[in-house]
Amino acid sequence: MTQALELKAPLTGTVLPLEQVPDPVFAGRMMGDGLAIDPTSSTLLAPCDGVVTQIARTHHALTLTAANGAEILMHIGIDTVSLKGEGFKPLVAQGQTVTCGQALIEADFSFIAGKAPSLITVVVIANSDTQEMAERATGAVTAGQSILMRVRAKGAASAVADASATPSADTTAWAVVGHGDGVHARPAAMIQAAAKAFNARVFLRFSGQEANARSVVSLMGLGIGHGDRVEVLASGPEAGQALAAVVEALEAHSPSAHGEVEAPAVPAPAALGAGKVGGVLAAPGLAIGPVAQFAAAEPRVVELAGELGTEYNALARALATVRSAIMSQMHAALKHGDKAMQAIFDAHLALLDDPELVGAAERAIGQGKSAGVAFRDAARTQRQVLSAMNNPLLAERANDLKDLERRVLLAISGDADQKPVVPPRSILIADDLTPSDLAGMPADALAGVVLARGGATSHVAILVRARGIPALVATGAAVLQIENGLEVLLDATHGVLDITPAADSLQAARQQIDARRDTLEHMKRQALEPAHTLDGQAIEVAANIANERDAREAARCGADSVGLLRSEFLFIERESAPSRDEQQAAYQAVLDALEGRNAIMRTLDVGGDKEVPYLSLPQEDNPALGLRGIRSGFARPALLDDQLTAMLATRQASRLRILLPMVADVADLLRVKARLAELAAEMGITALPQLGVMIEVPSAALLADQLAEHADFLSIGTNDLTQYTLARDRCNPDLAAGLDPMHPALLRLIAQTAAGAAKHGRWVGVCGAMASDLEAAPVLIGLGVTELSVSPGLIPELKARVRALDLAMCRREAQSLLLLSSAAEVRARAREIWPQV
Ligand code: PEP
Ligand code: MG
Repeated sequence: MTQALELKAPLTGTVLPLEQVPDPVFAGRMMGDGLAIDPTSSTLLAPCDGVVTQIARTHHALTLTAANGAEILMHIGIDTVSLKGEGFKPLVAQGQTVTCGQALIEADFSFIAGKAPSLITVVVIANSDTQEMAERATGAVTAGQSILMRVRAKGAASAVADASATPSADTTAWAVVGHGDGVHARPAAMIQAAAKAFNARVFLRFSGQEANARSVVSLMGLGIGHGDRVEVLASGPEAGQALAAVVEALEAHSPSAHGEVEAPAVPAPAALGAGKVGGVLAAPGLAIGPVAQFAAAEPRVVELAGELGTEYNALARALATVRSAIMSQMHAALKHGDKAMQAIFDAHLALLDDPELVGAAERAIGQGKSAGVAFRDAARTQRQVLSAMNNPLLAERANDLKDLERRVLLAISGDADQKPVVPPRSILIADDLTPSDLAGMPADALAGVVLARGGATSHVAILVRARGIPALVATGAAVLQIENGLEVLLDATHGVLDITPAADSLQAARQQIDARRDTLEHMKRQALEPAHTLDGQAIEVAANIANERDAREAARCGADSVGLLRSEFLFIERESAPSRDEQQAAYQAVLDALEGRNAIMRTLDVGGDKEVPYLSLPQEDNPALGLRGIRSGFARPALLDDQLTAMLATRQASRLRILLPMVADVADLLRVKARLAELAAEMGITALPQLGVMIEVPSAALLADQLAEHADFLSIGTNDLTQYTLARDRCNPDLAAGLDPMHPALLRLIAQTAAGAAKHGRWVGVCGAMASDLEAAPVLIGLGVTELSVSPGLIPELKARVRALDLAMCRREAQSLLLLSSAAEVRARAREIWPQV
């Protein structure tokens, strides 16, 4: 049994149980277990030796961390934060080492008594999930002399609390897990979010183990599978609501990630023959190239710990550095529309916020470890828990933790990340790769990827699939012995790496690779020509872009025009809004890069999931239904004026078309139209640019005929139109599977939009992700869409697809799809009608 830590009374007075504290947060033990003192002395003394790990800015509260890791929070008086420091004099500094009985804070109780509701001072163990109270005083205590309580560790810091650490629960319930793969990273993040939303402590109990619902790692560590029954325990003022929310999050349905990829079993080595290694398909395709063995050096860790305060600060700084680096990577991913990368870094942020992971590292520092050792050990303990699970999906998440561990350790040591350089077009072989390893490699570095470990559902597998790089995983360690530079043949589709390929196999593979490349090259060359259906209908294939560089790429890929410039990318990752002149220069650069093509530029679409901190838009309960799109322009008219003026001021403004996001009805459109006319008149401009409306809100689709009367064109934003029509948050990965624009409800709104536009002779485009879906193209064209705007790289394939379609048939068949009742039925039928080659 661990030795108990003795805590002396920090003040003289009468001991009270927490239930008698006139503050629900303390009374409900939200801050942890402990005792209160109704004080008669006024100098707060250290109850034991330790380090002052936190002093409130307003000096009314202080946390002392003892050598055994216990975090003792002392809070003087109730609601005393509102005194803003008046009446309190700190006698020590944060990071300072103090001895038992040392004076910490001087409180002027005669002043405080007149201002605060109570002088009752609370002493709680802030990390009560790992520390328990072994003894509690009652009655009168004397500061620095009487023992107030004894505290002992509940056992080694671990991702999962042991059974004896059962928290007291005000309310409990059972949930049957609906997530197809059990509680892995994304469901765990969902449960964590539900638990964090309430003033309550929530624990899950499963198979004799417990986990804090606010800890993603602990939740994953329980190894809960689909259909498992889990007990949920909650305590605190909002226990009831928290319990209901967590049960709902557990029972939510999310599809199995195994459905995302077909992972053939590892072929039996005997059947493969000599010189061949079998593995699991992670991304299909054939590749030939020289082997590049990839092993990142372990980051340096300083073993010797410095002052406690220094080590705490080193960890805090490193966590902050990694957090902001991940945020920038997420922004960059968002900018390039790289949803896979964005979702992966989002999951990494949730891990970095994990209270169990960071708490375990902090406790280890309290026990005398250096920041590096503490974080490395904490991350490794968690990794071992995950790797030991029977669930491969959870075991693969250990790789994400390894990625984070490496980044945090590098940030602590301050060393640069030294990674081997991979020559272009290599077949990279590694024990395992992390998402960061892959993110840091140039696009042309990899012809293929072979991993000794890993799995088909790992984040790395998702990334290689998204990039179209053939990849094989779980081949076993033998591949790590293959000589660098040796030419090998990777047939990921059939799960084989051929280390000594015969000349005829190499020749056959080369022919296939060349044929595929030729098809793509042919499509690229053809892409420079306009696309018509077989029966002669011109379909404009346009590009979605963010800046001038994208505009050049669009022109190179054969875009007929730009269908959507998301102007918000000019505004993010800055300290303040771009000036009118800066904007004009940026818009001009895009027009110039397009060499005579037209460009549709959308006015600022911020709010909702797109945050621009310096605009200080108000906090909202439902941002997706709040001040976003054109509404944020109405809320900041000067900003909208600047943007419209910058667009009007460009040379060759006749090639520029203005598009308004999130328009709900005609009033929105007329308001901007009138302002645009005023601004143009002030500038002496008579020829106004065309003005279009995005159809992203169901009301706009329903009123498309009214909008088309006043707009020059309509462009359907299927991303938002789907989210609002199906009432499914587009940013919630757990709802993603049902967020399919091929839903008949969406198709009917698109049909209605096209009919409304046709009434006034206007054209309709689609600039949401549905336009990039080759399966959806015939449906959209059949419903009356004549412009499709997509990422530049997709243009050649989309144009080839359009050229193989017959408009009359598309029209006929699209009508029949409107009568189906689910997206799955629509897709199945569309595949039958328009099989893809
Ligand atoms: C859309 O909603 O489909 C759209 C194109 O706009 P964004 O994705 O920028 O919200
Ligand atoms: Mg949108």
